[in-house]
Amino acid sequence: MQQTHDATTTMHFIDGRWQPSASGKVVHTYSPSTGARLAAIAEGDRIDAQAAIAAARRGFKSLARLTRWERARLCFRIADEVERRSDELSRVLAMEQGKPLEAEARGEVAAAATGFREAGELIKWMEGEFIPVETPGKRVISYRQARGVYAVITPWNFPINIPVEYLAPCLAAGNAVVWVPAPTTSLCAAMLMECIAAADLPNGAVNLVFGPGAVVGDEIVADPGTDGIGFTGSARTGGLIAQRGAGKPMLLELGGNGPVVVLDDADLDRAAEAAAFGSFFNAGQVCAASGRILVTERSYDALSEKIAAIAGKVRLGDPLDPSTTMGPLNNAMVATKVDEHVADGLARGAELLVGGNRSPELGSELFYKPTVLGRVPVEALLNSAETFGPVAPIVVCSDEADLLATANAASHGLAASVFTRDLGRAFAFGENLTAGLVNINSASCYWELHLPFGGAAGKQSGIGRLGGKHSLREVTDIKTITFDIS
Ligand code: NAD
Repeated sequence: MQQTHDATTTMHFIDGRWQPSASGKVVHTYSPSTGARLAAIAEGDRIDAQAAIAAARRGFKSLARLTRWERARLCFRIADEVERRSDELSRVLAMEQGKPLEAEARGEVAAAATGFREAGELIKWMEGEFIPVETPGKRVISYRQARGVYAVITPWNFPINIPVEYLAPCLAAGNAVVWVPAPTTSLCAAMLMECIAAADLPNGAVNLVFGPGAVVGDEIVADPGTDGIGFTGSARTGGLIAQRGAGKPMLLELGGNGPVVVLDDADLDRAAEAAAFGSFFNAGQVCAASGRILVTERSYDALSEKIAAIAGKVRLGDPLDPSTTMGPLNNAMVATKVDEHVADGLARGAELLVGGNRSPELGSELFYKPTVLGRVPVEALLNSAETFGPVAPIVVCSDEADLLATANAASHGLAASVFTRDLGRAFAFGENLTAGLVNINSASCYWELHLPFGGAAGKQSGIGRLGGKHSLREVTDIKTITFDIS
């Protein structure tokens, strides 16, 4: 296998080769937990992105010559390689992204292997249709076909697993890919790309281009050489992509502000555990996090006490220390947003129950204490916008109707939870929530790779559904062929 790096720099992977930027420029990535420089990364521009698109167009032709069984085998080989290198991958993920190695990073890497394996399995059994028609002598079939070259743009919060959610179904279905990862997790992307390259794909089948999203990401979205778009990131960037890529099929997985709704008859221990887990998992940098916890006065005191007690047990620290359960935030932008949301909540009268500021003594400015705020007013940013940090904001509503109205008032509609002992009540409440995924009696971020995941219509959480067969449908077109045998 070729080297990802020359003597000093992590390079792009274009046309089956690791290559420097056409401009020769490099940028650096830094550890969020120590601030130390981790690596020099090739900084791409539009020229590099165009080279990758040209390579992908050739790669698509090569992929089209492979049977589904052959592409499935490629996916299985990648899964094997991810598993073989899981220790290294998990360490780089913990070092560069900041999530705790034992508590979280290993799980994300394991899921990445599963993602490739499941896409390889599913593509073999994705059947087409024989469609009866009225006209004598006509026979009609329809089946799903790869679209061509996919532009895939991914964020830094799950830098191994989210790319796999696109790369695996694209490759299994026969699409070539140009992938632009988030700059702050470039090393994770390079190592995942090494695992993919080790499967001996046709040249150009998967290409990785580093660089600023607004440059290389924009290029792969807008260039007529790409045929479809897969994007996970913020609603703001999703909006830009929808304009720049107008006319192309696109799967957009955007932000969330998950309501965790605790009805009056809920098991409060269970609700508190799940709500706190959803707030502090990955330091809250999760689209399906417990963005806000909604409860009535009847359960507020007991619930907030329980959540505060759990927050007190979170072990914030070095992601590589096995006892750590929460690491630093990934970057300065997200940390600033958390500061702003907490300050806004307090200024509007929320009560600070735990945390509320950073812990720079742990090694960097990006350590943010697990934080619980009570009696957060509905107009506070903590309730109305996505915070994306380790904050559990508790909002008190007047009754069940108010809980539902407050839950649905947000601009996002991705994942939610409802806690109640009454299954009928849970079902009715869940049906009325404007969210793509509703978890009854568990954390809002429960999900498995084959389950449909995406935003509700009319909200700013995206378009389409990721997950298993849903992803395969999203990255393929329906081809209909009619035969006249008369
Ligand atoms: P972001 O939108 O700032 O960046 C995401 C990616 O887009 C990065 O790779 C970035 O480089 C690239 N990008 C930036 N500007 C671009 C442009 N003009 N054109 C093309 N690409 C561009 O988001 P982020 O802060 O990295 O990620 C956090 C967001 O992602 C949160 O809102 C979170 O909820 C969301 N998210 C959603 C899901 C989901 O499945 N719905 C999963 C994880 C994260």
